[in-house]
Amino acid sequence: MKFGSVDFFKMMIKACLLILPICLVLLIVVSIWFAVYHKNTSEHIEALESRIEQLEADAAMQADVSLSAQSGSFDQGISEQIQFEKPVSDKNNNYSTIEQSKNNHSVEAISPGFEYLPDIWLPLPEAARLPENKTVYLTFDDGPSPVTLDILDTLDEYGIKATFFVVSRRHDYEMDILREVAARGHSIGMHSDSHDPTKIYLSKEDYLADMYENFKYVYEVTGIKPQIFRFVGGSNSKYNKHAATEIITAMTDRGFSYFDWNSSADDALKPHPSASRIISNVLRTSETQQLIVLAHDSGARTQTAAALPELIETLQARGFVFDKLDASVEPIRFLVP
Ligand SMILES: [Zn+2]
Repeated sequence: MKFGSVDFFKMMIKACLLILPICLVLLIVVSIWFAVYHKNTSEHIEALESRIEQLEADAAMQADVSLSAQSGSFDQGISEQIQFEKPVSDKNNNYSTIEQSKNNHSVEAISPGFEYLPDIWLPLPEAARLPENKTVYLTFDDGPSPVTLDILDTLDEYGIKATFFVVSRRHDYEMDILREVAARGHSIGMHSDSHDPTKIYLSKEDYLADMYENFKYVYEVTGIKPQIFRFVGGSNSKYNKHAATEIITAMTDRGFSYFDWNSSADDALKPHPSASRIISNVLRTSETQQLIVLAHDSGARTQTAAALPELIETLQARGFVFDKLDASVEPIRFLVP
């Protein structure tokens, strides 16, 4: 067969007709394989992402549980401590000194030698007042956490404002929750940056350093300069004994006001009490003009959130109104230097 002859071209056409379907089949097989492989890969990536999210959530929950356990066992003695990662202190990120506020402080009132909170001076609180009506101040320590959101929804349902003494929790979702607390008009107070009573109470300076970080946290997340605070374990505990007077003086000189409580949900104890137990714990001390209730909104306190509706309704039936704390409210204090 000669190159270019009729037979040659006939053979070429036959060969093409034979090869073309094979190519088509191959193309289809490759396309199907690619589609299946790509789908599996996407699913695999999604599964991995979902697993990572789950692990992060578990880790956050674990930190909440441990922190709450620590807080709960505080009065009974702490067996283990949780350390939260401390942010690098940004020395340039100063809060503008409030000249007007400084002017409100007498020179004598300012203890010399403060090394911390150097640029935070708040207006001194107005004279504290007792509420005119029987009033409940619900306070929640150790948040923000997902439980905080449940509590916020219940408070909204009843048109009630409350107070949140917060720990510097720095996951994005936790900071979003804190912004939500602020957006819904509740009071935000400082509680602690590290929440480690064996460290923050070593000296006045240690305490002020911890408060400084916690103050910055609240301010940076919400734009609010918190003026009220609650001691980890209360103002009079075995952990702060040696430094409490100095600490209280240093903090109040700077315009901060602290609040203990006269009613406790006892919801940080182990085992975690049920919602009905929490309600009866609070109601033990409800016969008073001014009720400051200690409760917790860290991640494990689901029973606290569950107890709220009945607790609120019962207190309302007993003639109480609800309000949030600020520095002008007459405080309950276990220790006054
Ligand atoms: Zn606490």
